[in-house]
Amino acid sequence: MSQYGTKMQHELASVRDTVESIWVAIVLAFVLRAFVLEAFVIPTGSMAPRLYGEHIDLTCPCGYEFAYGWSAGQEQRARGMAVGDGRILAPGERNPAGAVCPTCGYDMMPEEVVSGGDRVLVMKYLYRFQPPKPWDVVVFKNPQDNSENYIKRLIGLPGETIEIVHGDVFYRPKGQSEFRIRRKHDPKVQDAMWQVVFDNDFRPRPALFEDVNSRRPASSKIYPPEWRLADPNSHDDAKWDIAHDANSQYGRVLRFAGADGAREGSLTLTFQDNDRMFLPRYGYNGEIQSDWKIDIVSDLKLEGVWYPSGPGSRLVLSLSSFEYLFRGEITGDGEVRLLCRPTEGPGSGKWRLLAPPAKVASLADGQGHVVSIRNVDLSASVWIDGRQVAASVDQGAAITDGVMAYPMDYKWLKNRLALARQTTGAKPVPNPEVRIAASGAPAVLQHVRLMRDVYYTSPSITDSPGSNSEYDFAQRMGVQRGRPGWGTDGHPITLETFDNPDLDQYFVMGDNSPSSLDGRLWIKVAPTLRLYDDSGLRGDPNLAIGDIDWPSFLQDLQRPTASARSSAAAYIRSRLSLGVRDQVRRLTSGEVQYDSVEDSLKRQIVAELNGMIDSRGLFDPKLWLSWGVTLPEPARPMADMQAAGQKLPPMELRRLNRLAFQAAMPEAVSRQWRIYQLGTVPRYSLIGKAIFVYWPSGFLVPGLSRLPVIPNVGRMRLIR
Ligand SMILES: [Zn+2]
Repeated sequence: MSQYGTKMQHELASVRDTVESIWVAIVLAFVLRAFVLEAFVIPTGSMAPRLYGEHIDLTCPCGYEFAYGWSAGQEQRARGMAVGDGRILAPGERNPAGAVCPTCGYDMMPEEVVSGGDRVLVMKYLYRFQPPKPWDVVVFKNPQDNSENYIKRLIGLPGETIEIVHGDVFYRPKGQSEFRIRRKHDPKVQDAMWQVVFDNDFRPRPALFEDVNSRRPASSKIYPPEWRLADPNSHDDAKWDIAHDANSQYGRVLRFAGADGAREGSLTLTFQDNDRMFLPRYGYNGEIQSDWKIDIVSDLKLEGVWYPSGPGSRLVLSLSSFEYLFRGEITGDGEVRLLCRPTEGPGSGKWRLLAPPAKVASLADGQGHVVSIRNVDLSASVWIDGRQVAASVDQGAAITDGVMAYPMDYKWLKNRLALARQTTGAKPVPNPEVRIAASGAPAVLQHVRLMRDVYYTSPSITDSPGSNSEYDFAQRMGVQRGRPGWGTDGHPITLETFDNPDLDQYFVMGDNSPSSLDGRLWIKVAPTLRLYDDSGLRGDPNLAIGDIDWPSFLQDLQRPTASARSSAAAYIRSRLSLGVRDQVRRLTSGEVQYDSVEDSLKRQIVAELNGMIDSRGLFDPKLWLSWGVTLPEPARPMADMQAAGQKLPPMELRRLNRLAFQAAMPEAVSRQWRIYQLGTVPRYSLIGKAIFVYWPSGFLVPGLSRLPVIPNVGRMRLIR
């Protein structure tokens, strides 16, 4: 009985969590509804598997329950093809209806019982009192179409530069030169983002696979992943009994019979379909849209419930990422070690500590303990019963003697991926290796699962900018189909800050990264954003240089060329049309009130300035440097590129021009560039933080305008 104590406690804890959640919802919903909260329905699955849009609930024969996103396109495809378990697929073909169990890989024909999208409660005014935090789930007006509300996760804050590298988010704070990894510091947020790779508790009967496979050609047979002896001929590995469970015989309980001394018996997780297993797959979507050569997810958690028989039991959990192996060792008497070794090159074969050895209370108390090793967001750690007991240290941080820093960082990853992109054939990024080993006294391990972190993909823009006004901005910016998405690998996005924080820019992405239409891919601009700057004086708000301080700007233009700044001003003056120059010259200081200059002249100057910014030639970095003007930080890499003879993309050139203008005439232009940058959410478009799923998806009743009638109460929960 005691063996299941931990599971029971877990279930009680989860019931408590649910009761607490419901209480929070009731209190908030009734007391504060009118002032603070608003309810929203989620139409699509960009936040799956945490939040659902319209979908079908499926239960795989293995017992695993998952949601399968339902859209018109999928409906059509499924109707057009009678695809069931039994249809014989062509070699290499996958079920076109596309419902594949995320854990065992069984594919099935979804029945057409469609459930609605989750309904969520949103704290509307929260962000008036506290700034939005990274990883918050936020609801906002879609910057592409303000009549829609979107729900995504907040990834980047104003002032930061954001870049996705190998699925992780990196940020560079304003004024700094190094990118840092953006981790989920709240363990509850990280917990919400784990997704199943393989859960050993869910394995269908082998007979079912045999039956399906008997009707399929060799190339499209399917097999669930499974734990196997690392070496079938090894006497030590054979100490594992992985088919012991008398009820199922499917190896859900892994028993180690014990071994003498330090001899280790090892299991390895094997996948029949190795090339697919570590891609950022989602049960919610049938298809995988990712770069199969690069997008190999190695941010993993290997977890199980461990029952050591005595202090001498020893468990080893290991995961690899690129060419590094991470290993967590836990003994029955509570000793914990976290180690690492490279699999290639110098130092390979030699384990080194990643953290000082740790000690927790004895685990040999007859209870099960939830143990895991995690390698996520460039950090490795060992966890016991929900607590982190050992964790790696970042490079550059203070480190204990004899301990090595976590071996990979931003620069390492960038170099490694550059290498991978040059590699032809073979696997440029290796699949992770997942192992369990044991030594010493007997022990039992169950509820073993391998989970992965959300992996953000780096897609290219898939739409061509259309010719209507919605796409005007994208066209003027030179955006084309095939351009790398904003914030993707090699194409960081810098989020602007403004004097008026309402204009500050945020970056958002959906958890269902390969299928999420989010900041990475936006190329339309809602009319409300374009019209935000309502003053005709500023020309086209999309290209605006900012609010001009007319007296100071006109004085600058009239200044004789005696200093760096006046040289820059003279250069700008020389680029103005003759007529405008003439009018400016006639304004003499003292005689003219600069702020009463005619609107028609102001409008003309703004139009010409916008033209200069648009014409790609407002500033020549060489001239600029010869005047001794200090380049603003974001402009420097662009100017270096141009000086080195490299061609800047039109968008970057325009950005450089704007920054140049501002640096040359700092008093003439206020910081308030009322410009919307593609890929961002301005603060005034943020509606609030999604906190609770109050009416989870229920069955839709045809004819009742897709009203979900029966809510799935079990899915009411706090959103993290
Ligand atoms: Zn399954």
